[in-house]
Amino acid sequence: MPITKYVFITGGVLSSLGKGIATASLGLLLKQRGFSVTALKFDPYINVDPGTMNPYQHGEVYVTDDGAETDLDLGHYERFIDITTSRLNNTTTGQVYHEVIQRERKGYYLGKTVQVIPHITDEIKRRMTIFDGQHDIVLIEIGGTVGDIESLPFLEAARQLCLERGSQNTLNIHLTYVPYIRSAGEVKTKPTQHSVKVLMESGIRPDILLCRTEQRLGRDIRAKIALFCNVEEEAVIEALDVENIYEVPQMFARRGLDMIVLRKLGLQGKPLRMERWNRFVRRIKNPRYVLTIAFIGKYTQYWDSYKSILEALTHAGAVVNARVVVRWVSAEELSLNGTADHPLSDTDGILVAPGFGSRGVEGKIAAAGYARRSNIPYFGICLGMQCAIIEFARNVCNWQGAHSAEFARTAYNVIDLLPEQRRVKQKGGTMRLGAYPCVVRKGTKAWQAYGQELVYERHRHRYEVNPEFLPALQEHGLVVSGTSPDGRLVEIVELAHHRWFVGVQFHPEFKSRVPAGHPLFVHFLRAALRYQQRRLEGVEVVTSVV
Ligand code: GLN
Repeated sequence: MPITKYVFITGGVLSSLGKGIATASLGLLLKQRGFSVTALKFDPYINVDPGTMNPYQHGEVYVTDDGAETDLDLGHYERFIDITTSRLNNTTTGQVYHEVIQRERKGYYLGKTVQVIPHITDEIKRRMTIFDGQHDIVLIEIGGTVGDIESLPFLEAARQLCLERGSQNTLNIHLTYVPYIRSAGEVKTKPTQHSVKVLMESGIRPDILLCRTEQRLGRDIRAKIALFCNVEEEAVIEALDVENIYEVPQMFARRGLDMIVLRKLGLQGKPLRMERWNRFVRRIKNPRYVLTIAFIGKYTQYWDSYKSILEALTHAGAVVNARVVVRWVSAEELSLNGTADHPLSDTDGILVAPGFGSRGVEGKIAAAGYARRSNIPYFGICLGMQCAIIEFARNVCNWQGAHSAEFARTAYNVIDLLPEQRRVKQKGGTMRLGAYPCVVRKGTKAWQAYGQELVYERHRHRYEVNPEFLPALQEHGLVVSGTSPDGRLVEIVELAHHRWFVGVQFHPEFKSRVPAGHPLFVHFLRAALRYQQRRLEGVEVVTSVV
């Protein structure tokens, strides 16, 4: 059993400095040095999980195999470190209090006053050490910015763990910001000094500083930060802005971050092996083709909401040798226009995003119809598949007013709640969540992509294709190319006489990894590339069919 080493990653000065990417990048470097690594995220908010928050509040909700709705940083961990996370990898203040209060009600603490220290901090430490002995290194990212009231118990738990495990087995990395002040023409270290001071008030002394900056930090600046923040000079690491997040591990490797971490933890490690990663980065930076994909969603101003889909497009792009340019199309504007023609013409593929609630849904349905009629490659994810079916029901089957029961009760609720969901009363954590098996039908486009009969994909939805209408939908030509093993739940649909029109009830984006990508995204982009080439060769004229 290995002695597990713990690396804490905190952030200062301001949020959005890329703590998740920094954690994931370090995880990759340590794994490529031959260690078994996992990463945990601790979020200071009181929601039990982000499942009930909207994307403006939280960005994407990332779903794990075991059905936890988690922080999007877990997606970075999976994609960079190539690990499979679970509900044990993400803890919120809400979960910690929930657990402690339940225990109190059971009489576990009889006679005692239940307090933040030690009861809350003990529960946090229990969660921080849940993989003790199972991995060489556990990275622990603490959400928020030091100085926030909410994150104090997490910092206190980290401090206690450092004391208990000793300095050979624990390490503190602090991510800060070193702004460049244009009028003065220089970078300023004061915010970093303040941030470290605040961190030290919690009893945590940083061993390594990662300094986010737009400008190169000269030796003198790093020496100044080192002196004022009480950190070794070589442990003050410049984290320069890079063009692409996948370059962050390379940048850290150039600055020797892995070596410093291993030295401080008293570990040796194998030589760093980054060939595969470097090859992938070269491919995404120098693609042969450019593909334009129309992305129809509600949060087109807020890309974090669709993080995993965007990453999956990047991965698949590397496989087909193309840069994917996303053309953001607001679903609501499409519905207001009443016509889907304009923003969707002249694209190589159309992707309709997942979503909840009726806002923008008519636009998504219009986009699916446009793709179906114009023979443009279409990929509908979750709500994107449901909208494709609604469109098919309305315009191919001629079922007037066909809709999902999520939005309207009609005679043709082709998407509806199944009995197990009708019984559900609570909103949090009660959707169909996590990995479920899907049987892929031979001879379909889905089969061409997967090349195997049984696949597992992650879900996050309440509504399903209504089995009552399925035979009629199929008679009208809808191909069901994937179902649950018992055949009851529709998982993948497609159109036979279309170039590539596939809708999936699940979220394939959560399982896309470097460098192979996800087969459905890869095949979607292949179809988009073929379509683009045929247009360029003039074999095909784009027809806009109303
Ligand atoms: N709102 C739909 C449902 O609950 C689709 C969800 C989604 O796109 N993730 O079934």
